[in-house]
Amino acid sequence: MTASMMGIQRYQAHAWKGRDMARWKNWAGNQVANPISIQAPHSIEDLSRLVAEAASRGEKVKAVGSGHSFTSAAATDGRMLRLDKLTGISHVDRGNNRVTVRAGTRLSDLNSLLHAEGLAMANLGDIAYQTVAGAISTSTHGTGKALTGLAGQVTAMTLVAGDGRIVECSSTVNADVFDVGRVSVGALGVIAEYTLQVVPAFRLHAMEQPMRLDDVLENIHELAAEHDHFEFFWIPHTKWALTKRNNRTNDDLAPLPIVKGWVEKTFMENYAFGALCRLGRMRPSLIPRLATALPSSGSREYIDQSYKIFASPRIVRFYEMEHALPVEHVAPALRDIRSMIERKGYLLNFPVEVRFTKGDDVALSTAYGRDSAYIAVHVYKGMEYQPFFRDVEDILRGYNARPHWGKLHYREAQELSTLYPRWNDFIALRDKLDPQRTFANAYTDSVFGK
Ligand SMILES: Cc1cc2nc3c(=O)[nH]c(=O)nc-3n(C[C@H](O)[C@H](O)[C@H](O)COP(=O)(O)OP(=O)(O)OC[C@H]3O[C@@H](n4cnc5c(N)ncnc54)[C@H](O)[C@@H]3O)c2cc1C
Repeated sequence: MTASMMGIQRYQAHAWKGRDMARWKNWAGNQVANPISIQAPHSIEDLSRLVAEAASRGEKVKAVGSGHSFTSAAATDGRMLRLDKLTGISHVDRGNNRVTVRAGTRLSDLNSLLHAEGLAMANLGDIAYQTVAGAISTSTHGTGKALTGLAGQVTAMTLVAGDGRIVECSSTVNADVFDVGRVSVGALGVIAEYTLQVVPAFRLHAMEQPMRLDDVLENIHELAAEHDHFEFFWIPHTKWALTKRNNRTNDDLAPLPIVKGWVEKTFMENYAFGALCRLGRMRPSLIPRLATALPSSGSREYIDQSYKIFASPRIVRFYEMEHALPVEHVAPALRDIRSMIERKGYLLNFPVEVRFTKGDDVALSTAYGRDSAYIAVHVYKGMEYQPFFRDVEDILRGYNARPHWGKLHYREAQELSTLYPRWNDFIALRDKLDPQRTFANAYTDSVFGK
């Protein structure tokens, strides 16, 4: 028996010893599941066999990535599949700067593998713990007005459909699947491999600087247009926002020194911040005063490889909601959220994050067909978030905003269908690839219908 086959046995043994042994929970700890088994296929053929076997028994199947979604997108009480053994780059097309990567690869590993090839992802989100498939399947994005989210960088993919069939697709092969299925929240099949458009490795010059929120909002479109990657974090109960501007550079590397970098990125942004959050959770009335001490008030500049600048460690756990709205609405929407927080007296110890992406042609991408701004709100783990998130969502609903598929929201299929012009094409593709709904779970029932 090979080591990878033994791997499958090990996961199954956990499941067979009792339901608790197969208990799964996500990173934020707000979603738990008791799958009947957790299996790790060692090849695409093995994956195909497992899906076909489950479908023939009428069991549900759900692929899970690194569990970094806040929604129950990856939860299942059927078979859970981890793609831990389907990792790494299988092909590099140097002429076209394209790489084929197995779907279970963590973005952090992909970044290192690409760098060793002199390549990089053109854009990334602010962590790299996710798997490639998990990130793409929920329309994960970074910031950059001229750049799309990760799904916009896919040029081909291979998935296993509901009957175990292996389906390859690109703009020329099974083009309907490619066209509509790049963001699928796990509802069309288990994705085994992607081909991604990447770029030659590059460096970024990072500039972090506090600005008055009103000044940021006054100049928001210029700031987003002037920098390759612009974002900001507004600190509720203060007038301040921490702005981050990352621009491509050919200058020499000038990274944060290791100790200073650890102190500022890991200690101040995680442990010290976490301590403030815990204090705020114990004594909420202190939050407005603690906000003025948030570890984000200084300015700093450094130059590093792009992937080291895009992603940071995230140790403090929280709950998050994020919506994409047409970019022209971002300033009024944020002003409305600020007024609502003041009016309702919410005490918030986490910043509100604002980012930008270019519109794309991926049917269920949150930026489909429109240049977008993203507004994300967070609440420290263990604190009540529902009333605040609902109030934020009510405001953003008025701006035609679309919720991130992996972050908390309260929208269901009927409403979501009005936000995506190609919704019916997606549902028709789902009927074609998974008519038996082998890949359904409570989340897909809610957001796509049964
Ligand atoms: C601290 C933190 C920071 C974050 N930062 C960002 C950010 O900067 N930008 C952003 O846009 N989002 C961000 N997110 C959200 C995150 O990128 C998404 O929720 C992403 O889906 C998580 O990837 P994952 O590998 O953990 O997938 P999971 O959460 O495990 O799964 C997500 C979905 O993908 C499906 N899936 C996973 N693997 C497969 C597969 N092989 N085939 C088919 N379906 C599959 C699952 O079934 C599920 O529906 C952040 C989340 C956290 C917790």
